[in-house]
Amino acid sequence: MQISEKQLSQVDHQVKRLIAADNFYGKRLKEAGVDSVATVEDFLNLPFSEKQDLREAYPLGLMTCSEDEVVRIHSSSGTTGMPVIIPYTAKDVDDWGEMFKRCYEYAGITSRDRIQITPGYGLWTAGIGFQNGCEKLGAMAIPMGPGNTDKQLQMMMDLKSTVICATSSYALLLAEEIEKRGIRNKIHLKKGVIGSERWGEKMRKRISSELGIELYDIYGLTEIYGPGIGINCKYDTGMHYWDDYLYLEIIDPATGKNVPDGEWGEIVITTLVKEGAPLIRFRTHDLSRIIPGECPCGSHHPRIDVISGRSDDMMKIKGVNVFPKQIEEILGTFPELSSEYQIRISHLDGKDTMRIYVEASGVNDFKSLQQRVAAAVKSRIGFTPIVYVVELGFLPRSEKKSKRVIDERFQ
Ligand code: ZN
Repeated sequence: MQISEKQLSQVDHQVKRLIAADNFYGKRLKEAGVDSVATVEDFLNLPFSEKQDLREAYPLGLMTCSEDEVVRIHSSSGTTGMPVIIPYTAKDVDDWGEMFKRCYEYAGITSRDRIQITPGYGLWTAGIGFQNGCEKLGAMAIPMGPGNTDKQLQMMMDLKSTVICATSSYALLLAEEIEKRGIRNKIHLKKGVIGSERWGEKMRKRISSELGIELYDIYGLTEIYGPGIGINCKYDTGMHYWDDYLYLEIIDPATGKNVPDGEWGEIVITTLVKEGAPLIRFRTHDLSRIIPGECPCGSHHPRIDVISGRSDDMMKIKGVNVFPKQIEEILGTFPELSSEYQIRISHLDGKDTMRIYVEASGVNDFKSLQQRVAAAVKSRIGFTPIVYVVELGFLPRSEKKSKRVIDERFQ
């Protein structure tokens, strides 16, 4: 999705502000001898920014406006190292609310809905983002925050909440509790807006069927406003994102070059109108792809696919970028296989080899299944793996998808 003339002029404006503010990115631009952005090539030559740059700017080094204009800060959780502090102007808060309102609208939520918000309030962008968008929409916010399941369910019944906003794991927990307590006929939920962490199709189906609701994936990250920068519509053909506020690129994480629309890679985001802490070419390390073509809903806002993992999971085999998600999707087309798998990559006799271990039950002809799986991988990825079918329960169970890939080439 090539950057438009309008977006280019917005980036140009941001670049000039960053240079004037002389923050880390302004300095980087000066070092690179950049003082304006007029063409697509100029844009593609701009340096990337990384989470580490933002950490090093702690506490307020990202501020690109005068402090008088800052009305709020948010912070990303500092699970690894220093937290990142993002300053917001009144306009940033307002823009974010408008984007979030649009998300609710795309999910078919209206001012008549009652929205129960379970993500956390505080330094992070979660709860308050859901709240802000809800108020802009004119719906009734029920600002619960996380935890206290008894009270959540009580309020859900008494106030007849029609929308639940939650992480996928909390939505599942609530669904199971509702089932267990036999109170489903007292629940009025119609829709769920779920923070787009990576979650499998099976979990999604379970939440949706146990609660009897439609689910929407909302995308966002604290560095770029917060949740609310994209959501799927009722046609569920990927997440529309708001290209009047943001420019998204999909890059090959290894080379940093843009990939053609439709191909998987890492999402890189440039904010077009942010005042407090504009970011240029910020590497999210989230993997997705631009979905080419038009959505049946008629929206002109482009779409990305549901986040399929982190670019740190990417494997380069025989010169081809491979993501565990691709293998997972192929395996998912074989009903005789379980959802468990293990990928081992090794380097033998001067060649990379990929071995895929899959589990099957009730299958007599392992050999034919192995050949069919190998052929399916070859047609999608371009090379033939060695496939081993093993008995159900043979592979180790792991929460983390990345544990399913073992790269023996560098050991
Ligand atoms: Zn649509």
